Amino acid sequence: MRLSKMHVNTLREAPAEADIPSHIWLLRSGMIRKLASGIYGFMPMGYRSVRKIEEIVRQEMDAKGAQEIHMSAIQPAELWKESGRWYVMGPEMWRLNDRRGREFCLGPTHEEIFTDIVRNEISSYRQLPMNLYQIQTKYRDEARPRFGLMRAREFVMKDAYSFDKDRAGLDRSYNEMFDAYMRVFARCGLRFRAVEADSGTMGGNASHEFQALADSGESEMVYCDACGMAATTERSNTADAPVSREEAFPAETVYTPGTKTIEDVANYLGLTADKTIKALLFAVLNEDGSTAEYAVAFIRGDRELNMTKLINYLGIPEHALVFADETDIESVTGAVGGFTGPMGLHDCKIIVDRELPGQMNMCAGANEVDRHIKNVNYGRDYTAEHITDLKLIRAGDPCPECGAPVKTARGVEVGQVYKLGVKYSESMGAYYKDENMKDQLIVMGSYGIGVTRTLAAVVEQNHDDDGVIWPVSVAPYHVIVTIVKHGDAAQTALAERIYAELEAAGLEVLLDDRDERAGVKFKDADIFGIPVRITVGKKAGEDIVEYKLRRENFSSEKSSAVAVKGAVEFIRAELLGPSDGAFRAGGGRAADIVGA
Ligand code: ATP
Ligand code: MG
Repeated sequence: MRLSKMHVNTLREAPAEADIPSHIWLLRSGMIRKLASGIYGFMPMGYRSVRKIEEIVRQEMDAKGAQEIHMSAIQPAELWKESGRWYVMGPEMWRLNDRRGREFCLGPTHEEIFTDIVRNEISSYRQLPMNLYQIQTKYRDEARPRFGLMRAREFVMKDAYSFDKDRAGLDRSYNEMFDAYMRVFARCGLRFRAVEADSGTMGGNASHEFQALADSGESEMVYCDACGMAATTERSNTADAPVSREEAFPAETVYTPGTKTIEDVANYLGLTADKTIKALLFAVLNEDGSTAEYAVAFIRGDRELNMTKLINYLGIPEHALVFADETDIESVTGAVGGFTGPMGLHDCKIIVDRELPGQMNMCAGANEVDRHIKNVNYGRDYTAEHITDLKLIRAGDPCPECGAPVKTARGVEVGQVYKLGVKYSESMGAYYKDENMKDQLIVMGSYGIGVTRTLAAVVEQNHDDDGVIWPVSVAPYHVIVTIVKHGDAAQTALAERIYAELEAAGLEVLLDDRDERAGVKFKDADIFGIPVRITVGKKAGEDIVEYKLRRENFSSEKSSAVAVKGAVEFIRAELLGPSDGAFRAGGGRAADIVGA
């Protein structure tokens, strides 16, 4: 491709709202353009990279025997009502009506649609197992669209669904997909980790997320070097603090003026936060948005609440749990905002973290303004019907499996796999007939890869201060040939020759033949991040060009002058695999893949 013929517009500066490298560089390199909040279009180079990721995904899915299909993005509400998720998906689901008032949504995912296909198409055990997938646009009206392609409202997902006769079959399908995902992300050049995950609104009983390591990532993972435990923090169990051996002191109400936070009350009373009890006040909403009940969660004062665990414990959708209005909850339950404690609450669900009953002489709110109670003990002063693990694990905590201190890391969730079991086949009636002509439920799994989020994750891990540094596998082009002096006959002739030879050798080449200063061309080449740059300059007459790798930084001194003769073979060998022309991982070094 000749740059003089290609539409590309690099930006000197990124818009202010772009605050992480991938968002900045995708915009500055002209790969993506924003249409509305969380909604982006792909420009020529951006779309090439998207298609490269799609192709990697497609190859790895096909290699596992999955079959590509393509379902519509518009989905009738009836299917979601059958599965029960029309309500569960909440405000994130993009809903619309047709001219007759019939309800539809723009698909956020396709479990219902694939289950519907299969219940109509599959009748016998002979047709199973089966795995169907698509690469398709998904819509989610995210509460906080941000970071460009990372959390968009319209994005490309590869979603696959496996259909098996039984659980053992599902385990096999799941492992195959897990393996395919490892290969996909390695080929995309990502450093990533597979971790155990919560299955959220998808349901089912086992799940893993694939997390591209990045400090800017929205997900947090916890892992243990001693035993290999690795999970998202929201999924991870926690180890409780050891049971206290203190003797019980008498409870005592104390005056604690204006101490609405744990920090305030601990300072005021000269306590450490782990001797206090923190209260979090929630309202659980009905489908119509009215309050179904109030819930108060209690955890040790120095802990953070794990919202996912609370939601799972309550068995409600995420959007049905909201922070309670203090005045409303006060009038119903006797809780007092900032001074809420477990003693004397009524008409609400009290949920206590599992470690609290073992802690002695704690300080809790007195449900009275400016008052706390010291030496509160479980059993004597309060009890609770609901005791469960509610706390969020953090770095340094003992591993819930082996006790060694855990570490945390941040990541971008690029994929997730779920063992759905019979959740959808049961609610939607997807059966097959077994060998004895008996109806059996189809056992399902579902498997998602965020294609466009993966593109952003690749940039997040592969950039420097001058632009993107594409791994070969995802780069929009492999080589950029830059003519230093526009109009110079020798340079133009040699560049054209190299361009033709590289293309003939199966490489994807950009020829920078624009009428621009060399400095502009070099800067753009840095921003584009094409893996190899060939610069055709003064020595063109001697058939000598400069060869540079983007990952060693185009702007650096490091370069090598190479004779054109042999250069094509050299570049080919550097970029492409030995025999079949399959792309080398280009940075997806197997040694970087940890976990799983
Ligand atoms: P998240 O927790 O980040 O909201 P999710 O768990 O809801 O994601 P899944 O339902 O597991 O997402 O979807 C499969 C994949 O689709 C995710 O692993 C992610 O890569 C991608 N994805 C999900 N939401 C978005 C989004 N808003 N923008 C871009 N990609 C997304
Ligand atoms: Mg997910």
